[in-house]
Amino acid sequence: MQLGLIGYYSDFVVYPLVIAVLAVAGLLEAGEESAPGWIGTVLACLGLWTLTEYLLHRFVLHHIPYIKDLHDRHHVEERSSVGTPTWLSLGVHALVAFVPVWVVSDFATASAVSCGLMLGYLWYISVHHMIHHWHPTHPSYLYTLKRRHAVHHHIDESVNFGVTSALWDRVFGTARL
Ligand SMILES: [Zn+2]
Ligand SMILES: [Zn+2]
Repeated sequence: MQLGLIGYYSDFVVYPLVIAVLAVAGLLEAGEESAPGWIGTVLACLGLWTLTEYLLHRFVLHHIPYIKDLHDRHHVEERSSVGTPTWLSLGVHALVAFVPVWVVSDFATASAVSCGLMLGYLWYISVHHMIHHWHPTHPSYLYTLKRRHAVHHHIDESVNFGVTSALWDRVFGTARL
């Protein structure tokens, strides 16, 4: 939805804080012996985020009514502050990942899963902001990502759903340079 300036930028303040608090609490709960496993879970879920990002963009943002309309607006007005409010993305995250994992496992595991997924989300919204607002030089990784995303926005919206990487577009055959 259309966000004000504070609403648009609040993700970049709230997410690092939530991730830091969860990381400290989770590591304390896990204890020294389980710390390597805790960190491994974070990294695995960071990787899982890249697939989540691809699937959400391809099947939710481009197909679910109302969400699709908002996303279409972003495709046209790419620099306006259309986005997901922090309270909504955090709420979805808590309901879909944190609480269920805590229920079936324990707090330490739930905090590791959440830290990984939220780090991925933070990286995704940061990269997405940069490729629409910054002017990276050629050649650079950010330039390549900006170019891929511009193809998705303006040439063919059935390709290049991955924003932070081209991996899943390659896997599912939707990559276009
Ligand atoms: Zn799109
Ligand atoms: Zn975009």
